[in-house]
Amino acid sequence: MPLSLASERPRLPSVDSLLRHPACHALIDRYGREVVLAGLRQLLEDLRGSAQQGQISAAESGNEVILGRLAERLTLQHQSKVRRVFNLTGTVLHTNLGRALLPEEAIEAIQTAARYPLNLEFDLNTGKRGDRDDLIEGLIRELTGAEAVTVVNNNAAAVLLALNSLGARKEGIISRGELIEIGGAFRIPDIMARAGVKLHEVGTTNRTHPTDYESAINLRTGLLMRVHTSNYSVQGFTASVSTPQLAQIAHQHDLPLLEDLGSGSLLDLSRWGLPAEPTVRQTLAEGADIVTFSGDKLLGGPQAGLIVGSKALIAKIKKNPLKRALRVDKLTLAALEAVLGLYRDPDRLAERLPSLRLLTRSQANILAQAQRLQPIVARRMGAQWGVFVETSLGMIGSGSQPVARLPSAALCFRPIVSKKLRSRWLHGLEAGFRRLPIPVLGRIDDDALWLDLRQLDDEAGWLRQLERLQWEGDLA
Ligand SMILES: *Cc1c(COP(=O)(O)O)cnc(C)c1O
Repeated sequence: MPLSLASERPRLPSVDSLLRHPACHALIDRYGREVVLAGLRQLLEDLRGSAQQGQISAAESGNEVILGRLAERLTLQHQSKVRRVFNLTGTVLHTNLGRALLPEEAIEAIQTAARYPLNLEFDLNTGKRGDRDDLIEGLIRELTGAEAVTVVNNNAAAVLLALNSLGARKEGIISRGELIEIGGAFRIPDIMARAGVKLHEVGTTNRTHPTDYESAINLRTGLLMRVHTSNYSVQGFTASVSTPQLAQIAHQHDLPLLEDLGSGSLLDLSRWGLPAEPTVRQTLAEGADIVTFSGDKLLGGPQAGLIVGSKALIAKIKKNPLKRALRVDKLTLAALEAVLGLYRDPDRLAERLPSLRLLTRSQANILAQAQRLQPIVARRMGAQWGVFVETSLGMIGSGSQPVARLPSAALCFRPIVSKKLRSRWLHGLEAGFRRLPIPVLGRIDDDALWLDLRQLDDEAGWLRQLERLQWEGDLA
């Protein structure tokens, strides 16, 4: 007589009996009854589904086992989606990985601003309503020589707001060599259109001359714009009009010159052996009336867009209703003030500002770290992987100095398998690093996985999770 299906199926415990189990009480304490109950019902349903396909054994249907699986599921479901990672890509200011890391001073300022009420828009001297921009205006004036400042959400917003405030329904003249696209669909022509400024392009991709601007100026012209071509470089037969030259042309016609500096550093970086970028102070001194730049690129602060320049133009920008829509929040302002404060002491900036500390870390220092780690990592990886110390070339990132390379050092993983399997192994190992509790991100190049160590601060934490690393060859 054939056995009935029902008797073959291992019996799953009831929801009630599982809820009474002490392991379940711990889960309820942690996640709340509703979540645990819903999770339990779903899990039992899934188990019943697989039991029908004959895939569940008696061992899998015990209370402890089921609650263990529930705990695993809940841990995964409740894991924060915002996660710390190790950025070993070699790109320091990585836009997809959050750009600049904030100094402790800024982190403390954020905590205070988050925890307590603050004078965000309240003047403690007069007892009257204040302006949030005033909180950093003094510092910005001191550090850049600007007359006035306003801060918005990011530099894209700063460009949009400045263009719309100064050039709406008029023409904006810009060189064809500066009609750039920044990652994430920020294109100067599109931003101009959205700002209500009619694009009047002059010159050619590689060469633009003063006369190109001069002959383009007409009664409808509202502003001249200059964009720092931060994320590419044109080499060879080139010509562009410098800020002083362009400012002179603009001012002869009573027009403002708006300059988008992109990264915009506050100090000359060549002082730390980094490629020189035009500073905000210099650009203003050369005659730009409005300068915009990012808070989280070379400045090393929180995401923000700074607009600095003449008092009259900044006042006009601040009156634009769009300003209200693009303004920064209190946490950003608190962090920005703290970061700007560090610039008052340039001598210690490279120790205190994480982005600058990482950018200026010497290759010898990184190489020494790689040599220290290599034997430990090689032992962990076993015979199927070659683990080598290699010099490498990193990047500043965020479109800053795209051609410049930062001499660095990396741990280089090469699979010792047939050529056919190599790519699968490499991608398997890369995925294994990504699955770690603190995902480790590197890059695949030249049949190897490269972990650039410039940004490996937490060496102990990184080593600790190495034993949990699993990859295809290891699993087999
Ligand atoms: C990065 C960049 C922007 C955009 O700045 P965000 O702060 O990312 O919005 C605009 N213009 C230039 C020239 C840039 O380099």
